[in-house]
Amino acid sequence: MLLPLLVFAFAQVESAQESFSGEQLESHRVEVSSYLFTAPGPFRSVGFWWEGDLEGAEVALFGVNGELSPWWPVELAHDLNLDDGGLAGSSQVSALVHGRVAQQTGLLLRLAPGQLVQQFSILWISTLPAIQPGTSLASTAKPAVFDRASWGANPAVCNPTFCTTTHVAMHHTASASEYTSQSWAECAANVKASQVYHMVTRGWCDIGYNYLICPHGDIFEGRGGGDDVRGAHDGYNCGSMGVSMMGYFHSPYNQILNAAMQDAFVDLAAWKCDQQNIDPLGSSWYAGFGGVKENLYGHRDVSATACPGDLAYAELPQLRQRVEQKIQGGGMEIILDNHLASFTGVWNTGSSSVDKYGADYRWASSGTATARALWNPMITQAGNYQIALWWPQGSNRNPSTQVGLLLNGQLFTITVNQQLQGGQWNVLGTVALPASANTTIGLTNQGALGWVVMADALRLVLQ
Ligand SMILES: [Zn+2]
Ligand SMILES: [Zn+2]
Repeated sequence: MLLPLLVFAFAQVESAQESFSGEQLESHRVEVSSYLFTAPGPFRSVGFWWEGDLEGAEVALFGVNGELSPWWPVELAHDLNLDDGGLAGSSQVSALVHGRVAQQTGLLLRLAPGQLVQQFSILWISTLPAIQPGTSLASTAKPAVFDRASWGANPAVCNPTFCTTTHVAMHHTASASEYTSQSWAECAANVKASQVYHMVTRGWCDIGYNYLICPHGDIFEGRGGGDDVRGAHDGYNCGSMGVSMMGYFHSPYNQILNAAMQDAFVDLAAWKCDQQNIDPLGSSWYAGFGGVKENLYGHRDVSATACPGDLAYAELPQLRQRVEQKIQGGGMEIILDNHLASFTGVWNTGSSSVDKYGADYRWASSGTATARALWNPMITQAGNYQIALWWPQGSNRNPSTQVGLLLNGQLFTITVNQQLQGGQWNVLGTVALPASANTTIGLTNQGALGWVVMADALRLVLQ
């Protein structure tokens, strides 16, 4: 097997792009099956694209110690639609792959014999700026959104344009490695890499999507400019808010649109539908498209693409119903993950439990100096709310974890067994709550020594 070793040096810090021609990866049907590309320095994400065949191409990443990642089949990214600035999509094959941290040194590309590849280009995305979680609070209005500053967005290179939003489009990013991210910081870095990829490969103004939702259910602001800014996501764009689910919800990866992602999509769509009087169950004129479309649609409804993938697309009917319920107030729900709680005493952050809600959870030792995790939901509509808690279970959990509700100065308590019923919403009861920001719900580490208590997520559903 011939293995051409290609080494390049680039001056740019954040990303480096090179196109290959001539004797390297020429416009021809390949005869060798593997190509090794060595980056100018350690990188975290790599984008690449070419004209020609997809066939059975696969990629793997080399780490700094020479270790090779698993092979990923190359699948088409679909983010090749026209933006206000820059070029229409033309590359037939494009993909974006992320490593876990910025310590990859090379890309190994395996092509099928006889595969047609021409104008092969590669983009190394390396240094990412410091990123900080945003601080916006959840409410029944706009859900918590991590803004552009939180993921270190580059400024757009042209002025935003605006269209009144009449539709919400669901996409997937078609990047399977985004779904396996293990922390908020990894997801934020993936959003940043997508922006670099969109701006460099296509010469777009900015990242294409209006919002992105990570596998932990965190919502990231995409295209800059604010409400109703025109994105670049389905080829028509004007009037449609493009929301991209970070992962690959289609063959061959078949990743699952999990509960946290679905909840976040409902919250985001309900906010926009309520704001613009959009009927989530109806259809209307989509100006950019020039025709009537369902108000909440999948990318494949307007373009020849698999996006958002069979497994995400199949969820749209029930998601439309949930958005409608949320707008009507019936079933209106408020979900507060642990990063929206306030903590007193000693708490640790954990992420290894697979049945967690969102990216991580906090835990504290029981029976030691008092530690509390407290949520203050913003109740904008008085009513009877069903209250539920989510925790990751385990044999070391406190079987008598104390949960409290502080309402009008009165404390109500209940105990829950956190050794069982992990990875689901556990209903604690239903209480009448006033429209107020002063309701406090939380849990403490009080009780016997030797256990841990878990603070993960709180849900209130209006009955
Ligand atoms: Zn799409
Ligand atoms: Zn995430």
